[in-house]
Amino acid sequence: MASLLLMGVLALGVGTAGRYFVPSFSAPAEIFVQAAAPVVEEFTSSSPMQAVAEVAQGAAEMASAVMAPVPETISRIVELGEGRTFSRMLMDVGVPSNMAYASSRALGKVYDHRKLKAGEEFTLSITRLGQEETLDQLIFQPEPTKEISIVRLDTGAYEAVLKTTPLERQRFAARGKIKNSLFGAGEREGVPLAVMASLIRAYSHEVDFQRELRQGDTFEVLYDQPTAKDGTPVGQGVVVYAALSVGGKEKPLYRVTFGDGAVDYFDQKGRSIKRSLLRTPLDRVRVTSRYGMRRHPILGYSKMHKGVDFGARRGTPIFAAGSGVVEKAKYNGAYGRFILLRHNRRTQTAYAHMSRYAKGIHPGGRVKQGDVIGYVGTSGRSTGPHLHYEVRVDRKQVNPLSVSMPVGRILEGKVLREFKKGQKKIRKEFDALLEKRAEKQEKANNNAPLPPVKPAAATAQG
Ligand SMILES: [Zn+2]
Repeated sequence: MASLLLMGVLALGVGTAGRYFVPSFSAPAEIFVQAAAPVVEEFTSSSPMQAVAEVAQGAAEMASAVMAPVPETISRIVELGEGRTFSRMLMDVGVPSNMAYASSRALGKVYDHRKLKAGEEFTLSITRLGQEETLDQLIFQPEPTKEISIVRLDTGAYEAVLKTTPLERQRFAARGKIKNSLFGAGEREGVPLAVMASLIRAYSHEVDFQRELRQGDTFEVLYDQPTAKDGTPVGQGVVVYAALSVGGKEKPLYRVTFGDGAVDYFDQKGRSIKRSLLRTPLDRVRVTSRYGMRRHPILGYSKMHKGVDFGARRGTPIFAAGSGVVEKAKYNGAYGRFILLRHNRRTQTAYAHMSRYAKGIHPGGRVKQGDVIGYVGTSGRSTGPHLHYEVRVDRKQVNPLSVSMPVGRILEGKVLREFKKGQKKIRKEFDALLEKRAEKQEKANNNAPLPPVKPAAATAQG
């Protein structure tokens, strides 16, 4: 048994629990007991003399019951061991090799075997007749939204079917306090990383995360997250409402979808948060060289520095500072790997020294503000990994930190009134969801044998 467990095998018997590992000679003994039961009953209701004869006859019946096996259905959960193939795994748990190979071939028609990972669990349904076992069905879930079943047809052939289970879109609310980082605070509250990333991106015009955000500041987020049947988050969630309290100042934002399908985030007053170019086209940065005259680190003499240098680790994602069209994405002498974006008739932004371009970035392509366009590097004339960033107005470089771009959309009149009503509704929904969540957590904590963490709602006060 120990060696079987080492192979990573779990066995479950339906109605015959644990019998799989019992040496085969004791299995008929159990059938013996079952077959014998009615005979014993008959014996108790008969006269002693008759009983003796019947016991003898019963013994003969018992013997024949042992000889003629009864088919039984067993269900077994098997785990794929490290370095094991699918068919090997099946044979390890006693599936005849011809069935193991046939089902393996069937699987290959709907799923790439190379994608199978060690630790993957398979539920087998097996018919056992005496010593003979037949694999009737095998089911597993390679991904939260995918289920594959391999079924044995009447002809004995195997057929695999891949079923995609639909995602459910669920709305979640979370509130947390910042200790070290906003990402960390989100993680503690169970908010998916991708949701926190889009929240940070949405605020990156408003908040200088490095300088303004402090310990004890709080965040709130209401988001829609596609989830699989088992509750696993799948894909990108959408922030519906968020609020950052930065140094005691509350900064809420709301998602608005317009009739034409356009989507934008607005502050409380109905002003689009996309007011200007991003202040910094990177998440985590330090400014290493500002716009203006400086002594050039490589050339040695003083030269006008026509951009801002942001020191960051190689590979740090670079965001498009504004929505627009990719004008250039190619190696450009001292600039190294270089991207030039055009945002409107007058304004462009430039990004230099990248280690690589993001997938799908090509001249003529469109980017949205906050899209990743490339990654920090040190290509071209550069002393170390950093982003050289320029803003150009009428094709001339200007100081990126002083330029202000045209103001985004502002909601007015009837639309604004609708928006304000919507805000109230959203806040109400947020509070209700958060309350539900706190109750759930409290229950979970009460049921736990040891109270390891306080409920989040008790420690985080908005
Ligand atoms: Zn520079």
